[in-house]
Amino acid sequence: MTENTPSDAEARRAIQPVICYPVETLPQPDMALYAQARAELRKTDEVLVPPRDASTFTVPAGHFFRISSVEAAQVGDLNLWNAKDLSEKFYSGKTRALHGTHITTGQQMWSSFPHLRPMTTITRDTLDWYGIDAFGGSVHDVIGTRCDPYTHHLLKGGQYHHCCHSNLTRALAAHLDVPLAEAEPHVHDVLNVFMCTGFTRDTGQYFMKASPVRPGDYLEFFAEIDLLGALSACPGGDCSAEHSSDVARCYPLLVEVFAPELDVLKARADNHVNGYDRTHGL
Ligand SMILES: [Zn+2]
Repeated sequence: MTENTPSDAEARRAIQPVICYPVETLPQPDMALYAQARAELRKTDEVLVPPRDASTFTVPAGHFFRISSVEAAQVGDLNLWNAKDLSEKFYSGKTRALHGTHITTGQQMWSSFPHLRPMTTITRDTLDWYGIDAFGGSVHDVIGTRCDPYTHHLLKGGQYHHCCHSNLTRALAAHLDVPLAEAEPHVHDVLNVFMCTGFTRDTGQYFMKASPVRPGDYLEFFAEIDLLGALSACPGGDCSAEHSSDVARCYPLLVEVFAPELDVLKARADNHVNGYDRTHGL
C-alpha cells in the first residue's frame, strides 16, 4: 500500500484482462500446403555457426531453412532481413504483440513498418512439447533483445566482444563487406532460438534457464520472402547461468537450407503486401 492506493484498489486489480490483438482475423498460413511442400526437400546449402560467433546465410523465397542443435545444448540469436532491402527487418515487438512471448509452429515472424508482413512461417518445432513451465518459462522467445556489450559494460564494466550483438555485427559487416559502424545499425532485436525464458511473477524481471534443447532438435521456417539471415551461437551456451562472458560452454549451431519440389509461392495467390495506404491522415 502506498499513499496513492485508492479505496477500490482490489476491485480495479480484479478487472479481467482483454487480449490486445485478437488474432482470429489474422490471415492464417496454409499449413497443409507447407506440410505437402516439406515432404520432398532437397538440401541446397548449410552453414555451421561457430560457438561465440555468428554466420550469415541466405534463403530464397519459397525455400525452407532449419536451425539445428548439434553436439550439446546451445542457444541462438537470429536476425532476418529482406535480402533485397535491409531496411525491412524482423520486428520482434510486433511479432510478440501478435503471437505472444514465445513462438512455435504455425506462427510467423513479422517485418518492420511500413511492410508488416510475414518474413517466415514456422513449419516445425521439435521443442513444441515444452509448453509453458511452472515458472512461466517457454522456448524461442521474442522478449529478450540480444546480449550486447553496451548493457554488459553498464552492469559489469569491461569490454566483452563476443556478445550476440557484436557477433551479428561482425558477421553482417563481413557479408556486406562494409565497416562495422555501417553494419551495426542493421542489427536488431532477435528471435532467441532454443532459449528458455520468461518474466518472474513477483518482480516482472526477464529470466532465463537451461535450454531443454537436445542435439537433433530443430526449428524450421518457410521463407516467405528472399531472406538474409544472421545467427549467433550465444556466449551464454545453454543460458543456464550467465551470458556476456567466456564462462559458459558453447557449441555450434547448424543452419540448413532446403528447396521443396513444390512451388509454394506459385501455389498460393497472396503476396502478403500490407494494404495500409500510408497517408497517415493527411
Ligand atoms: Zn547472446
